[in-house]
Amino acid sequence: MHYFDNAATTKPDAEVLDTFNKVNEKYYFNTASLHRAGRNSEKLLEASRKQVLDIFGLKNHHCVFTSGATESNNIAIQSTLNRKKKFGSTILVSQLEHPSVINVVDYYKSEGFNVKFIKTTDYGKVDLNHLRTLMNDEVIFVTVMAVNNIVGTVQPVEEIAEILKEYPKAHFHVDATQAVGKADINYKDVDTLSISAHKFHGIKGAGALIMKELKSMSPVFYGGGHEENIRSGTVNLPAIAAMAKALRLSHEHTNDTFSRIDGYNRSVRNALADYRSIVIQPSDTPHILNMSYVGAKGEVVVNALSEKNIMVSTTSACASKLATLNETLTAMGQSVDVINGSIRVSMSKDTEENDVNMLIKGLKEVYEEIGDVLI
Ligand code: PMP
Repeated sequence: MHYFDNAATTKPDAEVLDTFNKVNEKYYFNTASLHRAGRNSEKLLEASRKQVLDIFGLKNHHCVFTSGATESNNIAIQSTLNRKKKFGSTILVSQLEHPSVINVVDYYKSEGFNVKFIKTTDYGKVDLNHLRTLMNDEVIFVTVMAVNNIVGTVQPVEEIAEILKEYPKAHFHVDATQAVGKADINYKDVDTLSISAHKFHGIKGAGALIMKELKSMSPVFYGGGHEENIRSGTVNLPAIAAMAKALRLSHEHTNDTFSRIDGYNRSVRNALADYRSIVIQPSDTPHILNMSYVGAKGEVVVNALSEKNIMVSTTSACASKLATLNETLTAMGQSVDVINGSIRVSMSKDTEENDVNMLIKGLKEVYEEIGDVLI
């Protein structure tokens, strides 16, 4: 199988699985238990927390472990808005966000919040000039992802943080789910940051919400008070320790992986350069390559490739069952034909040259097979 859906999820690393299994065998205790076994498990939990913060260079921040980015985004948004509603009512959200941000913000819109979308440039980045015009003292929350999951553009997180310094009431949330191991971003001025282990070769069901100030967060569901009373529930220590390991490995290999995948990305672009009906979007992270078979349906291309044992996705796995046009491509001003015919090819450190050769072969064959519908 040639797997090109790494933006949906990655294969857990062998070393990560090893950590997961060992912790399950030796530290399966409840980290909240007072006995020695519980305390030892808690030590491992705290060591994992420290490691996560150290890797991000955020030693003085706080880290709450969650089940993944959907939960982290929900806690960040719900908790902050519940607390800040007395100070203002405007939320600024980029048009590029994942449903786990957009749909939460949508709920708050129905509750009377004033939701404004920050425009996108044709290249797929947040328009900073538009952001500047939207900023005022009513803004209490700004949310922009770090790396877009559809086209792979890196968003100007540091510049946004700089703009927001003049507006101390505005909380800055960053969904960094697709950025880990792909983009080197300084998050020191970000108020809350979401990550998810399964996007960087960790285990599904583990993630984190990293925050500047603990006291600015409150629980969105209530329970026994674990994780600083922000995220109650028995802690998933094996998956958390495995996530810390996965984070370290992906951090160490960022540069090697980047240059290798950059080469693959160029090969695909070059191989398809003369194909009149294929439009390839620009991307900053070579891991994500969004291309359209203009005139065809993305699902048809995905299924045809799948028959050849090549796994790619249409827009994103989470949104692929929704029959709406892709928001990111719409925000970039792409035509309906380009959006309908789009597929996402996403690579990771596990992608090898042979996979890329098979992908190129498969993409060309599908072009010939469906040529009659292409524009
Ligand atoms: N944000 C982005 C940008 C994503 O790509 C995803 C995963 N598709 C999520 C959030 C949700 O992550 P999780 O699966 O950990 O809930």
